[in-house]
Amino acid sequence: MTARLFFLFLTLLGAKVQAQFQSEFSDIPRIDVHTHVANDIPAISRYFDVRNILLDQHAIDLAFWINLGDGDTPIIDLDTVLKAGKGRMSCAISDYTAHDGLMHSPSSLKGFMDQGFVGYKIWSGPWYRVLKNKEEGYPYVDDLAHEPTFAEMERIGMVGASIHVADPNGPWNDRGDWLTDPIEYWKEITAWHTVLTRHPDLKVVMAHSNWLICQDAQIDYLRYLLATFPNLNLDLAATFQYFYMVSHDNLRAFIIEWSDRILFGTDIGSWSDDAVTAERAQQYLRAFKILETSEIVNGGFFGGPEIQGLTLPREVLEKIYYKNALRIYPGVGEKMIKLGYQID
Ligand SMILES: [Zn+2]
Repeated sequence: MTARLFFLFLTLLGAKVQAQFQSEFSDIPRIDVHTHVANDIPAISRYFDVRNILLDQHAIDLAFWINLGDGDTPIIDLDTVLKAGKGRMSCAISDYTAHDGLMHSPSSLKGFMDQGFVGYKIWSGPWYRVLKNKEEGYPYVDDLAHEPTFAEMERIGMVGASIHVADPNGPWNDRGDWLTDPIEYWKEITAWHTVLTRHPDLKVVMAHSNWLICQDAQIDYLRYLLATFPNLNLDLAATFQYFYMVSHDNLRAFIIEWSDRILFGTDIGSWSDDAVTAERAQQYLRAFKILETSEIVNGGFFGGPEIQGLTLPREVLEKIYYKNALRIYPGVGEKMIKLGYQID
């Protein structure tokens, strides 16, 4: 290779390295409060591979995960999972069977908290994803069958960890297969409102921004819920791909206005193929770019249409990325301090 060609090669290489996105907020640790790795120890080690890619290539510190179990798989051996998490993971007990009756008895909840579980994940999505007939189970989250559970959580201060109510509901001309039935949707949302009214002291993070983030008027309803129920918080898991559906300025203003109550999350699960790990890092990268930059990002965490970045201010990002999580989930602050983070 001639010297000139070699110089060109170096220049191109330099351009490629420079093209790698570097976060302006490399000093802000990020906590993903919505993950589903459950008991999958090899997959937990792949979470660390994702962490290393983000740290080495993009100056992003993905510092900590809240593990919510996965579907029918609750976290069985807490100590083994925490050991695999090397001080960077906390776990919630989980229940994906609300429509058939919750798995954990109210009297057992305090014991789980004492063991070190940081919350209780409950899935109460559309009943028709689980039940053939409404009459066969408990279709809505405000069913009186669940009352003793919410009452006990409220009494002992157990966090509702990414409680899932409803599925997303798009505007009438953009519902597709997934963003469907507005009538069932509002029955589910109003049922959740009933739970909040009954239990104003219930400390809860709602999965997927309570699925009230796909229409501008839904965001106004979120403003109402947050103003009315001071213990209500929201995670952003799996919402990024829907940001195109609402006004960019409204969404940005909402997140800034309610930044004390919004937490970063993804809904990432397990994977067994190491070749997929780099793609998982890219998924995180897209979510971070949407929150931090003014770039047009090609898809949210789970893909989807182009999203205009929100350029959220530093103090908002700090709250969403970790400060709110430290306030809400017991013991996470202590673990972060042990890892060497300066938490103020
Ligand atoms: Zn989830």
